[in-house]
Amino acid sequence: MSEVELLRRDERDVAAWDLEVDVLVVGYGCAGVCAAIEAREAGASVLVLERSGGAGGTSINSGGFLYLGGGTILQKALGFDDSPENMFKYMMAACGPEPDEALIAPYCEGSVAHFEWILARGVPYKESFFAGAHEPFDSDDGLVYSGSEHVHPFSEIASPAPRGHAPQSIRDKGALFMNRLIAAAERVGVEPAFQSRCDALVTASDGRVVGAIAATLEGEQRIRARQGVILTAGGFIYNDSMLERYAPLLLQCKHKVGTETDDGLGIRLGLAVGGEAIRMEAGDVSMAIFPPNSLRHGIFINHAGQRFLNEDVYFGRAGEIILLHHGARAYLVVDDDYYGRPLNFPIEIAAVGDTIEELESELGLPTGVLQSTVSFYNEHAAKGEDPLFHKLPQYLTPITKAPFGALDLSSENLVYSAFTLGGLRIDANARVLSASGAPIPGLYAAGRTTSGIAKQGYSSGMSLGDGSFFGRIAGRHAASGS
Ligand SMILES: Cc1cc2nc3c(=O)[nH]c(=O)nc-3n(C[C@H](O)[C@H](O)[C@H](O)COP(=O)(O)OP(=O)(O)OC[C@H]3O[C@@H](n4cnc5c(N)ncnc54)[C@H](O)[C@@H]3O)c2cc1C
Repeated sequence: MSEVELLRRDERDVAAWDLEVDVLVVGYGCAGVCAAIEAREAGASVLVLERSGGAGGTSINSGGFLYLGGGTILQKALGFDDSPENMFKYMMAACGPEPDEALIAPYCEGSVAHFEWILARGVPYKESFFAGAHEPFDSDDGLVYSGSEHVHPFSEIASPAPRGHAPQSIRDKGALFMNRLIAAAERVGVEPAFQSRCDALVTASDGRVVGAIAATLEGEQRIRARQGVILTAGGFIYNDSMLERYAPLLLQCKHKVGTETDDGLGIRLGLAVGGEAIRMEAGDVSMAIFPPNSLRHGIFINHAGQRFLNEDVYFGRAGEIILLHHGARAYLVVDDDYYGRPLNFPIEIAAVGDTIEELESELGLPTGVLQSTVSFYNEHAAKGEDPLFHKLPQYLTPITKAPFGALDLSSENLVYSAFTLGGLRIDANARVLSASGAPIPGLYAAGRTTSGIAKQGYSSGMSLGDGSFFGRIAGRHAASGS
């Protein structure tokens, strides 16, 4: 039997249904719980199939950040100006190439109301801003820059605004976020079925998805979904053969950001009934060498000894650029004043020298190339300028204090973290589209089972962000049968 035959069953072969619901949700992470709440609140009976023993998925282990803006209550309370248009400009610049305008536009438009919806379901946010760069690892502050909004080139494209909304907890923010949403789902009467893995979708003769087959502890269950099935089953970072086929570069990342259930089954179910998967090579690739932020005083160089990026960017942007454009080989050159060991991951020191010339030779670079890179950088840094990459002035200091070091940023020696961002193509109503662009009747999807709002240029919070946002839309549309 081919995979398609295994994952798609014909309604005529289903002798009888074991269960019937209005809306069937597959996967109980952030996208699934939001879909379930909306569908239930719209009056549908809702069953959530979850293959593991409890709700939460990868979302419950996450950092809990939501990437939201456009002037949320929290942004306003903390004095940050933002608008849907401004957020749209940033996302269209950052989330490409070929940013998905069809999803980004409604996401920016609906962001303020989405945050209010999350607040109304009991997720708490403290009215305080974390001024450090990116993730507040040990803070319960509510708002933070979680992307590269405040740095070049984005600060010139859109007016900078922090959009990382973090639940109020020092640790386990993802658990706080998910537990509040799961409790909200229970309150409105969403029915969960744990240890129940969706193994196939059932289609009618016209191609409409009318139900699913689940493997449960009681054996196979045939579940009819009168109004629709919503696939919210995570991504495929734990499926090496899918990575080999679609996203081989991500195999170079040693740390898989996800859970073992991120095996792409949701995407394959959608493909089996005629859905299209797009941007399957895309992934969030993080290289978490910061903190300490003192390292941002150093300079990134590639294998040709040349600088290629401002060092104040979100570490996801740095990791992605090194992996995609520099053969996963780069160094961070620092002097003694600003050297510090990364707090989160071990790092190797590729070379140390009392002079830049010595460092250059230890790295095996052609004579003069690194000296020229550093001398150009120093000359301008001394004046608080960075004509090439416009790094923020606070990190601009000449690299002069010996000894000098080159930290090894190659994917062989540094732990890069990744999760997949490609998946089923959906429209703004979260309907799964076929290759012709037509929606597959009865099938919706959200979260990492879909191709999300970011292709590259992921900023922290965009995954829970688009998962929860389009999950809600999927729930609403499935409940209305539209
Ligand atoms: C440590 C860490 C920190 C992170 N921090 C952030 C952050 O701060 N902000 C952010 O936006 N993102 C963050 N991420 C990424 C983010 O958590 C995930 O991308 C996101 O949770 C995906 O949500 P989802 O709803 O698509 O999938 P999930 O939350 O993984 O839910 C999918 C569910 O589907 C179930 N499932 C799978 N297949 C089936 C099937 N066939 N039948 C039934 N059930 C099935 C799975 O068991 C799972 O419970 C982080 C990830 C990690 C690991």
